[in-house]
Amino acid sequence: MNNIIYLPATDCIFYREGFCLYEEILNPGYFVEFRCKVLKKWEREYEDLLDRAEIFHLDLKVVERIWDKGNRDRLKDMYNCPTFKAGEDGLCFYLHGDICLLTLPICKGKCHLFTRGEK
Ligand code: SF4
Ligand code: SF4
Repeated sequence: MNNIIYLPATDCIFYREGFCLYEEILNPGYFVEFRCKVLKKWEREYEDLLDRAEIFHLDLKVVERIWDKGNRDRLKDMYNCPTFKAGEDGLCFYLHGDICLLTLPICKGKCHLFTRGEK
């Protein structure tokens, strides 16, 4: 049996660091499993804070100050992710918007969806 060898697809508009964004671009936000789990945790924490602020009648500026105070600890959450890799911006290299690239399908090379273009 012959093995199929695909040509490299780094110039495909869906290609990011070896992973394929096609499904996410086709249905933005549909695949919850693509979201960075650290960002999801922060989202839940922010919602909890908003709930508590409502109970104590705090205004949004106070809520934001409280939230900003926790920024350093929150970054530790990201550094503690077992698959974290430092990116140039100080955040995770695999973070693309709110997506974790590691959860996307791997690009095996030029497929029938290959589309050359600017990223
Ligand atoms: S070549 Fe195919 S699998 Fe690879 S990034 Fe493009 S669309 Fe995705
Ligand atoms: S590897 Fe990075 S992007 Fe993926 S879940 Fe961990 S922190 Fe988020």
